[in-house]
Amino acid sequence: MRLVLLGAPGSGKGTQATRLRDHFKVPHISTGDLLRAAVAAGTPLGLKAKAVMDAGCLVSDDIVLSMLEERLHHPDADNGFILDGYPRNLAQASALDALLARLEQPMDVAVQIDVNPELLVERIAGRAKLEGRADDSPDAVRHRLHVYADQTAPVVDYYRELGRLRCVDGVGSMDEVLARILAAIAAAK
Ligand code: AMP
Repeated sequence: MRLVLLGAPGSGKGTQATRLRDHFKVPHISTGDLLRAAVAAGTPLGLKAKAVMDAGCLVSDDIVLSMLEERLHHPDADNGFILDGYPRNLAQASALDALLARLEQPMDVAVQIDVNPELLVERIAGRAKLEGRADDSPDAVRHRLHVYADQTAPVVDYYRELGRLRCVDGVGSMDEVLARILAAIAAAK
């Protein structure tokens, strides 16, 4: 299974990606997690990315693509992956197509988890209390939602036009949303 999971911050993408990982027995690859690990490890790349991430902006395409490429070369990704947080703009969507073509591992389907904006803000505020992520501050959240609408929403249209997109309603219990995603993937086959 080679799945691209799309959804705004707070849509439940990360939570569902973990469950899909367990279901399909393929790694959950989150570019946000890869970047946070680089920040925590204090690598030069992490130091460069930190301020950009804290402000809720996108880290440069080159940095994220090279991290992703390196991760996809790990043997555990040979049988597929659940990709979360990538692509975030149209340039990344083309870069991903080119990378997967090179690896001879074309993606099966992109699934978008749809949640209305008011609920997104509410959910992120709840998560901020629990996790204390720097980019869950009100200003950074506003900016991340703006970046999503401006740069990532076109990626949804890109996959839709290519006939590779399935959309699911992201409002409901975690089990309900998972069941919808699995049904959408089955219907895409
Ligand atoms: P996430 O955990 O997916 O919400 O990502 C957290 C932050 O990491 C984002 O707000 C960006 O600053 C950065 N990031 C994650 N994935 C990407 C990406 N594909 N392109 C650029 N920046 C990214």
